[in-house]
Order: sequence, then C-alpha cells, then structure tokens
Amino acid sequence: MIPYLDLKAQVAAIRPEVEAALGRVLDTAQFVLGDAVADFETGFAAYCGTRHAVAVNSGTSALHLALLAHGIGPGDEVVVPAMTFVASAAAVAYTGATPVLADVDPVTWTLDPAAAEAAVTPRTRAIMPVHLHGLCADMDAIGALARSRGLAVIEDAAQSHGAAYRGTRAGALGDIGCFSFYPGKNLGAFGEGGAVVTDSDDAARTIRQLRDWGQTARYRHERLGFNYRMDGFQGAVLGVKMNHIEAWTEARRVLAARYHAALAASAIGMPRPPDDRRHVYHVYAVRVRDRDAVQTALNDAGIGTNIHYPVPVHRQPAFAGLGHGPGAFPVTEDLAAQFLSLPLYPELAAASVDQVAETLLAVAGNERVQEVS
Ligand SMILES: *Cc1c(COP(=O)(O)O)cnc(C)c1O
Repeated sequence: MIPYLDLKAQVAAIRPEVEAALGRVLDTAQFVLGDAVADFETGFAAYCGTRHAVAVNSGTSALHLALLAHGIGPGDEVVVPAMTFVASAAAVAYTGATPVLADVDPVTWTLDPAAAEAAVTPRTRAIMPVHLHGLCADMDAIGALARSRGLAVIEDAAQSHGAAYRGTRAGALGDIGCFSFYPGKNLGAFGEGGAVVTDSDDAARTIRQLRDWGQTARYRHERLGFNYRMDGFQGAVLGVKMNHIEAWTEARRVLAARYHAALAASAIGMPRPPDDRRHVYHVYAVRVRDRDAVQTALNDAGIGTNIHYPVPVHRQPAFAGLGHGPGAFPVTEDLAAQFLSLPLYPELAAASVDQVAETLLAVAGNERVQEVS
C-alpha cells in the first residue's frame, strides 16, 4: 500500500524534539499564545521575509482577519479564483462582502489576471490570489492590476509555505499573506493553526487585537474581536518543524521532479511551473481524462489518491446564491473533472514514486488529456 499521505512517518522522525518542546509548554503552562507561539511568529516572519507574523487558530481565521484588517465588509467585493478550497470564498462571505469568482489559467491553474480584471467592479476592494497546490499565482500581473484600481492583494498562501515568485516568498508578495497549518499542509501543526504575515505595522497590530477579543488592554475591547488565538502546543510543534521545513520542501521538489521525468513522455497532464517560481508541491496533481476510472484503478493497485478539488466553489450548494451556472468558468470545470492528486510527501520513498508513475502510465498513459484553451 502507498497511502496518499503518511503523517505518522513525519511524527516519528521528529518525535523526541517535539516531546521536548511540548514539555516546555507544560513547564510554563502557557497553553494559549505565550512564548512558544511568539517564538514561532518571529521565526515564521523571518522565513517569509515579512516584518510581522501573527499566529491564529486556523488558515480560515487568518483569511477572515486579513480581510477585516483591510476594512472589507458588507457591500464590498473581493475577487477569488473559482478553483480553490471553499475557505477562500467563505472567509470573504464571513465579512459580509461578496466573493466574486474568476477563472484560472490553464497552465498554472492559478487566478488568471485577465479574468480577475474582467471581474473587477466599482465595488471591488481586494483580490485574493490562491497559490494552488504550492505554485504562486502570476503576482506581477495581479499586483499591477491591484495598483491600477486601488485594490488590496490578500494572498491565500495556505498551500504554499516557502514557495517563491521571482525570489520573493509567498505571503510577502501582496499586502498581506495568509497561511494554514492544518496537519496535512506542508508546515502542519498537530491540530488547527494559521498565521497572517505582513510588512504593515497597522495591519499586524489590528490582527493581534482581532484574534484576542479586540483587546487593546486587559478587558478593554476596542473593537468587536474573536477568539482566534493559537495554542501554545501548536506554537511549540510549529517551532520545531521550522527547523525542517526547507529540507522537507526540497525533498518534495526532488520527488516531484521524479514524477515529472517518469510521466513527461506520456499524454498525462502535469504541473508546469514557470521558471520564475519555486513550486513547493503541497499537491502533485495530474490531469487525466476519465479521472474516476483512473482513480479506481490506482486504488485497486493499493495507491491512495485525492482530488483537489472535485467541485469548484461556484458549483457548491453553499455558494448557489452567487448565481454562476454550469460552464461559467470553463478552465476551472475542466480541471475539476480531470485533477488527480498523487502521493507526495517528504518521507515518500523514491521507489514508491516510481511505482505510482508506472501504474499510472499503465492505466492512463495513452489517454489524450483534453486541453482547454
Ligand atoms: C487549507 C486551506 C485553507 C483553510 O485553512 P484551515 O487551516 O483549514 O482553516 C484556505 N485556503 C486554502 C487554499 C487551503 O488549502
């Protein structure tokens, strides 16, 4: 069996370090925020290349607070790619603003700058590119669009810890960057976690208040805030993992290159990261026609797979109110029908990659992927 993901292997590799760090939290009894979280924030800001990192209790909370810190609320619109995890659009809706969906680029699978431009209206306040699967969106074009229309750029970097675009890390490419530390993410807590990173002193201060009940001093609630604080244990785990994230990321990239070499001559659609970007392969997705049959065949061969994502945001019942019918975003819909995520994590053996690739080639190597335009 080759599982899609194996978190136990990573726990085993760092268990003594993690137990020591958790022990320090027990010694201090700083169970919410505290030194472990503050130390992690310092390390993560340095890693992203931003002045500030503010740790919160999930990636969704990070997105929610980033939007609020930019004053986004009822009557406003935020442009979001249709091909993303539902949280990107949900966070916009939490503020009372409207997520306005736009299609993605057929090569990078990230927000198409031309589609984003077409989605801008006088009510648009921000653009939320999503660095899908760990590949940065076209941030120069998105930044130029935002500047020309006076919009904020809020990065959904939940899948892209350590990814880079022209030498700048994800999270540092827009006005504010939002990360998730859900256990399966490239940098995963042992529970829920998230962070916002920014160079803005104002935004960082506002988000520190908002995550802790809007407090400016003890029991002084300057604004309506939330209980979005990070646990001490999660800060401790993430602090340990910061020492490994670069090695793990390089291991992912080596395995991705191995998939690429094995599949390159086939008709299977593969990630094609432009040369100016560092892909961190949170997900290694291929495109195949007759995806469900291919997934079943791999499963029968003992290979776990996943789909990110089978139903795009505009086809979700929860977002039926946005009023986008079938066919509204053709690239997104083709990808949703064709994506198949293969096993890829730092602890995966090279021989397992070979076995997955061989099985995939036997099952789908001659299929014509339906390229979209
Ligand atoms: C995981 C994820 C989120 C949400 O993060 P949580 O920590 O699960 O709340 C948001 N956006 C994207 C693209 C994600 O992959």
